[in-house]
This record gives sequence, C-alpha cells and structure tokens, in this order.
Amino acid sequence: MLIHIFWDSAAPAGFQLPVARTLSSMLGVQASITDNPVRMMGYDQARKQINAKALLDSVQAYKHRHNMIGPVLLVISQDLFRDGHRFVFGLARETVGAAVVSGARLGNEFYGKPAQDDDLIDRLAKEGAHEVGHLFGLAHCTVPECIMFRPNTLDELDCKKKMFCDTCREQLDQNKNQKKS
Ligand SMILES: [Zn+2]
Ligand SMILES: [Zn+2]
Repeated sequence: MLIHIFWDSAAPAGFQLPVARTLSSMLGVQASITDNPVRMMGYDQARKQINAKALLDSVQAYKHRHNMIGPVLLVISQDLFRDGHRFVFGLARETVGAAVVSGARLGNEFYGKPAQDDDLIDRLAKEGAHEVGHLFGLAHCTVPECIMFRPNTLDELDCKKKMFCDTCREQLDQNKNQKKS
C-alpha cells in the first residue's frame, strides 16, 4: 500500500521530502509525493478560508475519475474551515480515503514568532499522520502525546509526540493488514 501525498503549489516549498519521510515512518507505510493535480474548490470569499468538505469533494471526484484506491493526503497552504468551526488543521473522509491538511496555522509566523523549518515539518507530518490515521479507521484518542489526540491549539499539537500510543498503534497495524487483504 502507498499513501499518495498531493502537494499544492502554494504549500510550503522544499518540505515535501522531510514531511513525507517523517509521516511515512510514523505510519509504517510508504508515501509518494506529487504536485497536486486536484482542482482547488471551496474557497469562501467572506471567510477567506477554504471549506474543507468542498475540497474533499474535489479530491473524491479526482480519485473516482482516476480509479485511485489508496489513501490520498492533500497538503495546502490556505486556511481551512468546516461548518461550526472557526478553523480546522485538517479533515479526513474515511469512506473514500481522502484527507486534507493545511499549513496555514502550523508555522510559528502565524503566531508572531520567528519561523522554524523543523517545527513546520514536524507539525505538517504529525497532522498529516493524524488525518491518514482516520483514513485507516482510527478515532480520536485521549492520550495527549498520541498522534490521534485532537489538538485545539498549537501548544497541544506540539505536545503530541511523533508516535501513536500503544492502543492506537495496535489498532492501526490491525486495520492496515485488513486493508491489504
Ligand atoms: Zn482528527
Ligand atoms: Zn492513541
């Protein structure tokens, strides 16, 4: 199995490889990277954000058209929202194997601090792995260090380690094997 990472042209440049490598080692699944071929949909003029659900519709349509089975993770730079939430770091649609993650709020600059490449790479990889975890059927976890913990703030995100807790890891390995057969 392969995770297909689609990298939007406006997403942080030059971070494709380190993010893919980190994400792939967390999940224990290989990842490929390509320039994003999916039409960017769902921009909300008033909010200046992208509706994550509309964008996932677009990924879903692309996958369907190209007969793609494997999980797809789209990485973008624009800010994401979904109904009822001011913003989201990312969103996954397990039934079709499509997920999106945004770097908009993952850089220190967004919070008025000096930029740090390593921080951004870690956060993109962690949030990417979190969304792909959903694609493998994992739910949210209450362990604050676990990848499947749902962070509301950057601090909470930074508290997460680049690993799944034992329970989530076990579930992940089990679900991965099921998808293979
Ligand atoms: Zn989640
Ligand atoms: Zn967990």
